[in-house]
Amino acid sequence: MTHVDFAVVGGGIIGCTIARELVLQAPNASVLVLDQDAVGSGASRRSAGLHFPRGATERVRRMSGYSQAWYRALLDADPTLPIHPVPMLVVSDRASAGQVEAAYLDEARMSRVDALPDWLPPLSDGTAAWKGEGCQYADVGALARALARSLRPGTSFRDGVCVTALDRAGNGYELALGTGERVTADAVVLAPGPWLTAPAWRERLAPLGARVKKVVALHIEQPPAAEDGVVVFHDEDAFLLPLHEQRRWLFSYTSQVWDVDPDRLTGSVCASDLAEAREVLLRRAPRLADSARSGRVFCDAYSADREPLVRALDEEGRLVFAGAANGSGYRLAPAIAAEAAHLLRTALQNVSEQGSHP
Ligand SMILES: Cc1cc2nc3c(=O)[nH]c(=O)nc-3n(C[C@H](O)[C@H](O)[C@H](O)COP(=O)(O)OP(=O)(O)OC[C@H]3O[C@@H](n4cnc5c(N)ncnc54)[C@H](O)[C@@H]3O)c2cc1C
Repeated sequence: MTHVDFAVVGGGIIGCTIARELVLQAPNASVLVLDQDAVGSGASRRSAGLHFPRGATERVRRMSGYSQAWYRALLDADPTLPIHPVPMLVVSDRASAGQVEAAYLDEARMSRVDALPDWLPPLSDGTAAWKGEGCQYADVGALARALARSLRPGTSFRDGVCVTALDRAGNGYELALGTGERVTADAVVLAPGPWLTAPAWRERLAPLGARVKKVVALHIEQPPAAEDGVVVFHDEDAFLLPLHEQRRWLFSYTSQVWDVDPDRLTGSVCASDLAEAREVLLRRAPRLADSARSGRVFCDAYSADREPLVRALDEEGRLVFAGAANGSGYRLAPAIAAEAAHLLRTALQNVSEQGSHP
């Protein structure tokens, strides 16, 4: 039987960021990250990985600002990380201009523009546009793996190992693994991405009311120009991201296919995905509509109020859920990790005062 101070279940961007936060706050803590697949697979592998400095609520704006500074510091410390700053253009209906101005952070330095690039329909009386700063995008799976690499060997990673049961044991929890092994931990963080209904935690998570929605991003087989940045279509909750290194665009739009099972999604684009995406493109970027033919499809966990869920699932704060970030799990991961560590403060204090378990 292995014993650790902290077990983090899920080696996606959220689990890896949480592991990093725990190690920073309690350098002597023993931390074990478990993933049923490879680290950086799951939703993280297929993510468009865009960070934009905005939030629909005060808490999400705060989280967005925190995460933006965190990623900037990470990239400054290691410029080889797969994080790419990119300019931003936001387009909306004129009627939504107030919403846009309220949603973006001061750091975005939004300023109105009166013309769009010539491959977009010109601005009309009914539309408005802004340029802004603070955007970046990442290869999220690769970044999760880079974070994991930076934590080894102090932090243990077990990938390809499924957590099949989770039970109270003494002051902490016992995890049963698919390998037959059992692990006890003083505190456990569940960061399972869209696997909300895994048998080990289904009943514990059900009261949170999170659901799983399909997320689609399509490749547009036209090369962006060197000066092109991300174009955000505010009213459609969609964006065009120039993948300069791939010489094509990525178009992310909001699918409304709910209650999907991550184990049943094949990752393949279907005809209705293309049709929905083309409808938005025909309205906002018609020259690109016919070039959307392939893409990446997966799913993500969504909370009822569209704010990330970071919750203690017991009274002592020894079992914490972190996720349901509503298609924004990359851009908000550092703030989610900080909130999770705050909920685990008693367990963190114990390690600092009493030392780690071997
Ligand atoms: C197509 C697409 C585009 C997106 N675009 C953006 C974007 O532009 N910006 C943005 O911020 N976000 C975006 N997202 C959302 C973002 O990718 C997710 O919110 C984020 O990756 C979630 O990270 P996670 O660590 O919670 O989940 P995951 O990356 O899914 O990691 C969870 C891990 O838990 C593991 N796990 C599950 N069950 C078990 C078990 N029983 N035992 C052990 N391990 C288990 C899984 O194997 C998985 O690796 C996008 C998502 C998709 C699919």
